[in-house]
Order: sequence, then structure tokens, then C-alpha cells
Amino acid sequence: MHILVCGGAGYVGSHACLALSRAGHEVTVLDNMLTGHREAVRWGPLVDADILRPETLDAAFNRKVDAVMHFCARSLVGESVTDPYAYYQNNVTGTLNLLEAMKRHGVDKLVFSSTAAVFGNPVSAVIDEEHPKTPINPYGASKLMVERVLADAATAYGLRSVALRYFNAAGAAADEGIGESHEPETHLIPNALKAAAGEGAGLKVFGTDYPTPDGTCVRDYVHVLDLADAHLRALDWMQREAGAHRFNLGNGNGFSVLEVIEAARKVSGRDIPYEIAPRRAGDPPVLVASSRQARERLGWSPKFERVEPIIETAWAWHKAPAY
Ligand code: UDP
Repeated sequence: MHILVCGGAGYVGSHACLALSRAGHEVTVLDNMLTGHREAVRWGPLVDADILRPETLDAAFNRKVDAVMHFCARSLVGESVTDPYAYYQNNVTGTLNLLEAMKRHGVDKLVFSSTAAVFGNPVSAVIDEEHPKTPINPYGASKLMVERVLADAATAYGLRSVALRYFNAAGAAADEGIGESHEPETHLIPNALKAAAGEGAGLKVFGTDYPTPDGTCVRDYVHVLDLADAHLRALDWMQREAGAHRFNLGNGNGFSVLEVIEAARKVSGRDIPYEIAPRRAGDPPVLVASSRQARERLGWSPKFERVEPIIETAWAWHKAPAY
């Protein structure tokens, strides 16, 4: 198949391009290159376009597109609290522009990057697809709005879609020359590894007064290549299944911020100094997935189940980043 990967120059998108190419698909990347990396566009041509400028999108559909994977998004919880307009603009309006372009060009299959942030504060130990959706930050709210749009589009236009709700994406394919590189970096694992390498302004632990065993937030870390694999399975799924579907993607294991720092210390063999800082706005205390549906229905089975092997791949990238 020929897949249009929107946001394919970014972190999860570039790993999806790698997985698509390994599986024998053809890839075209659409990216505005504001946060993407030219060096990460390795598996197909780049169309320089922007989902916020609808008139730029048609060029990406010059060749017949069999399905779209949509990774273009703003995805920082804290930033979404301070700049919600940017989040609703990019994540909702931008996605509508892309959906309209797909409709114009007769493309009826979409894999959409959604997030655990659609759930808000969990009311059960693990979060399955039926868990109540009450996002506590604009990022999660913007993604939930798109999930609703996709359900309506299935009814109205016959759009087939799979929304994949990532828990915490981490790790890298360093041997393939791609990995996580954000400026500024806000995510825990890369920031812990920076601290291990003696780089950056110093690691902060945001909040030690959460209702968790050690007081720090608990997250479910999932390897970016396992996420990419779920996208391939979602493509297959849409060949068979009409409608709008949603799957949670995580390992089902929660690690606290302090446990992640300890794992990063072991992996890197370096001390990781940190200071305690106030809570970051918009952070729920615990997010741990039940991915039973993805396992049973998509046949998804993550290769990286524990956080240490995930951090090992992130450390390999950190020691020799290609960009
Ligand atoms: N976190 C932290 N220090 C950092 C970055 C993150 O303490 O430098 C915490 C953050 O508050 C959250 C967890 O680590 O509880 C995971 O945050 P991250 O930004 O990696 O992912 P998110 O859960 O926001 O998608």
C-alpha cells in the first residue's frame, strides 16, 4: 500500500515510516518541519505542507493514497494548559482540514494518534477502552474531540479509522538512525538521560505529593517501535472492518518518576541528580493501560515489556544521536 504519513518527520511518525517500509509499504511523508527532522525522513519523499493551511494539502494526494496515518499534533500536557488555543487549532482544526482533504481525494482509511490523556484522572487501577473519558487538560480534550469527529465521519461518510491511544511513548531505533529529539525536551526519560550525561539545566521531579506509593506520578511506558507495529496492525484491521475503532496501547505496568530515574541510573551506569519541584499542571497521578483489546483484536504483542530495555534503546540513541 501507499501510506501518507502526516507528521512522519517527528518522533513516533518516523518510527512508523520505518515499520511501514520494513513491511513492504510505500511511504510519503507530509510535514511542516516546524518540529520534525529532515534526517528522520528516510523511507519516502517529503511533501512540505501544513494541516493548518488546507490549500497545501492537495499536493500530497497527487499519487493515489491507500490510507493516512496522522501524527501531526501538539502533544505537551503542560503547554496545552498555558496555550489551549494552539492545541485546539492544530489538533482539531488541523485534523478537520486533513479529513476534508482525504474526502476530496477519496481516501477512506485513517490511523489516528490519540492518547491516554483522553481519560483524565483514572477511576480504576488499569484503564481499558470503556473507562470514562473526562480529560483534565486541553491536549487530551483536543484528541477526544477528534475521536468523536471520527465516529461521526464513519456514520456520515463511511470513513474507516483506528484511533490508537498511546500511553507514554519512549525508546528509539538508534541502529536505524532515528530517535527522540525535542527542543525543548520535556519528557521524563530523555531528560533523565540528559542528566545522566551531565547535560541540560538539571532534572526536576514534578510533584512528590501524589496519591501513589512514592508520591510521584506513575506512567505506562511503551516502546515507540511497539507503537509503530500497532499502526501496521491497524492498517490490516481497516481492510476488514468498517467504522471508527479505538485501542489503548501500553504495557500494563506502571513506573513512578523515581522508578524511571532509578532505571535510567542502572542503564546508564551514571548518577542522576535531580531536584524536587512543584506539580506540573494537567498531570494525572496514574496512567496505566489495559491493552487487552489491542492484544486480542489486533494481535498486538509488545516486544519491550519492561522499562529498562526501553531505556536502553533511548540511551543508545542519546549517546549517538543522528540529529
Ligand atoms: N516529569 C518529571 N520531570 C521531567 C519530565 C516529566 O518529573 O523532566 C514527570 C511528569 O510530571 C509526568 C511524568 O514524568 O508525571 C511523565 O511525563 P512526560 O512529560 O514524560 O509524559 P506525559 O505523561 O506528560 O505524556
